[in-house]
Amino acid sequence: MLPARVCNLQDSPGRGAVLKFRGQKPMEKKVSNWPEQLRDLWSGEIEWDSPMARWCTLQVGGPARAIAIPASREELQSLIAVLAKLGVCWRVIGRGSNLLVSDAGYEGVIVMLGRKFATIDKRAGKKADETLVQVEAGCSLMKLVNWCVAQGLQGLEFAAGIPGSVGGAVVMNAGAWGKEMSEALTSVVFLRGSGEFVERKKGELAFSYRHLETEGMLVVAAEFLLQAGDHQALDIRCGQLMRDRKEKQPQGQANAGSFFKNPAGLPAAGKLIQDAGLKGLRVGGAQVSEVHANFLVNTGSATAQDFLDLMRLVQEKVLERFGVRLEPEVHIL
Ligand SMILES: Cc1cc2nc3c(=O)[nH]c(=O)nc-3n(C[C@H](O)[C@H](O)[C@H](O)COP(=O)(O)OP(=O)(O)OC[C@H]3O[C@@H](n4cnc5c(N)ncnc54)[C@H](O)[C@@H]3O)c2cc1C
Repeated sequence: MLPARVCNLQDSPGRGAVLKFRGQKPMEKKVSNWPEQLRDLWSGEIEWDSPMARWCTLQVGGPARAIAIPASREELQSLIAVLAKLGVCWRVIGRGSNLLVSDAGYEGVIVMLGRKFATIDKRAGKKADETLVQVEAGCSLMKLVNWCVAQGLQGLEFAAGIPGSVGGAVVMNAGAWGKEMSEALTSVVFLRGSGEFVERKKGELAFSYRHLETEGMLVVAAEFLLQAGDHQALDIRCGQLMRDRKEKQPQGQANAGSFFKNPAGLPAAGKLIQDAGLKGLRVGGAQVSEVHANFLVNTGSATAQDFLDLMRLVQEKVLERFGVRLEPEVHIL
């Protein structure tokens, strides 16, 4: 287990970096018997000492002391208030499809927004062919895409096959085929560490490549502006994109999608790794995929440390060969 630490806001949600704490004011000490107190003060669902390997698509990672699974905004709000009161570190996750958790695990609370936090609603947009869709952060992106197709709404087809949650996809500004989440998005509802909900319109949000600046806030819901489209044509398009993924990406081996960000103005990370001759490179049970060099895959027995060591080895070799330091896209906890 990691040593006990004190913080009062969500651990920094990455930027592909190792976990850091935001520069918050020090607060009261973490209450030593916080697990008992959490159980007494919060009535929602909690899993104790749950291996993160179960919750992350890389299938590695040690136990989280607690995984709290709120089923409503009220439960989420009360959870964050209780965690602040107890001085416990927390981190929100969606589907764990862009996350590498250390073998030591996480000595705090993982707040998981999942299927219970996944409503989808719609209302008419300003123009006749426009619809505004409001989605809670725990909704899977695939469920949203399928719902949009069934409703004949276009704008999110590019996300077909991205295995994350809507919250994770917004925070990551997930993208594919030249499109990204920020394009169709109109606003995001956040929960601050201090407990209030705030809505930010798109113009107030700082999106960049695979990143949204959340200022440590938690994404609760997002709204998208979509256009009327033909249900059948949308279905065919999504089916095609899914087949393209199957062809280009490793199948049947645990992974987290593209491991590294594409460096600006240079060949894609996958091309650099391939041209450095690193396809198939292996550390323990972690391997550079033979199918797509920007995918690091779990051959079955990998540990988080194997992935970290392989990541560093790939970074070193690409730097040596091309003078480019690859930045991980995957968030490391
Ligand atoms: C097979 C495969 C294919 C993929 N293809 C793509 C692709 O084409 N394009 C692409 O962009 N990505 C892709 N990914 C990566 C991943 O699916 C996306 O980044 C996805 O958006 C992550 O969502 P998640 O819910 O799994 O987030 P997690 O992995 O659970 O979390 C990622 C980060 O977001 C933070 N976070 C999650 N939810 C919230 C929230 N509600 N509020 C605040 N912070 C939050 C977490 O703390 C963490 O720092 C792929 C992954 C896999 C396994």
